[in-house]
Amino acid sequence: DLKVHFPITTGVLFDRVVGHVKAVDGVDLTVPRGQTYGLVGESGCGKSTLGRAILQLTAPTGGEVRFDGVELTRLPAGKLRGMRRRMQMIFQDPMSSLDPRQNVESILTEGLAAHNIGGSRSERRQIIYKTLDAVGLPHWALSRYPHEFSGGQRQRIGIARALVLGPELIVADEPVSALDVSIQAQVINLLDELQEELGLTYLVIAHDLAVVRHISDVVGVMYLGALVEEAPSDRLYREPLHPYTRALMSAVPVPDPEVEDRRERILLAGDLPSPANPPSGCRFHTRCPWAQPTRCSTERPELRDVGGTRVACHWAEQIASGELRPHEVKV
Ligand code: SF4
Ligand code: MG
Repeated sequence: DLKVHFPITTGVLFDRVVGHVKAVDGVDLTVPRGQTYGLVGESGCGKSTLGRAILQLTAPTGGEVRFDGVELTRLPAGKLRGMRRRMQMIFQDPMSSLDPRQNVESILTEGLAAHNIGGSRSERRQIIYKTLDAVGLPHWALSRYPHEFSGGQRQRIGIARALVLGPELIVADEPVSALDVSIQAQVINLLDELQEELGLTYLVIAHDLAVVRHISDVVGVMYLGALVEEAPSDRLYREPLHPYTRALMSAVPVPDPEVEDRRERILLAGDLPSPANPPSGCRFHTRCPWAQPTRCSTERPELRDVGGTRVACHWAEQIASGELRPHEVKV
């Protein structure tokens, strides 16, 4: 039931709270050890805030985060520091997340020093060399600066910075969306290999369903601060149940131009509503091509199990069977 609500304030002399942006509004999910959880949704749906809240980089305002059985949200700072080493983050844009004035050695040493890993200089060197090998960077990279590398190599530095601490969980926030398409697969494959080798657990955040498809064991779809669907990866791509997932899916480009695209085209009405003032009932009802009068706008659907998928839609079965047809959407 994780929540992150940011206050909206106004006032000249004294701040007055006039509302809250419900960036994350009661999310329940489990990332199984050694697996990859792909978290997908449009920008502004709260997925990055959720990732940061899991790592306690943003303070949750409600609910709990349990890591290996330890509840993190009320942990004293000293204990949390010890846990931090085990949970690392990879960011979208390595250019802005790496300090341009630090060379690679200093970027990688910083975390080791902060967590007191590897006492001597030569011990730290050994850890750093191993990490460079793991991410496919040459040892001479140590004396170079971030701007001397290509985008893909910079992301390898970002991955190395996370890995050097020997984490168990990595939250990767849009790890390839700043990279050329040709480089994206290399970085995704690297993450996959590292997982195999090191037994890592991943939460991979993306706005694009195609990016997480091949590395995710489980995929969750977020809309306006809430999880609307979650299923094992194969199942989600084969048979999406939530209207929003279906709409996202219909926007994924077809990889092979020779293959006829028989998928349904789903157009969404309007823009993403403000998370400060989410629609009543089902938050998706203002854009949903299947929305039904009254119930969809008054009753919030809970996530429930439908044949192995968790889905938050009152009409999931009727939509899947074709009993309910989508309305025409005027655009
Ligand atoms: Fe659409 Fe209603 Fe299902 Fe929400 S509950 S996704 S509005 S059909
Ligand atoms: Mg994997």
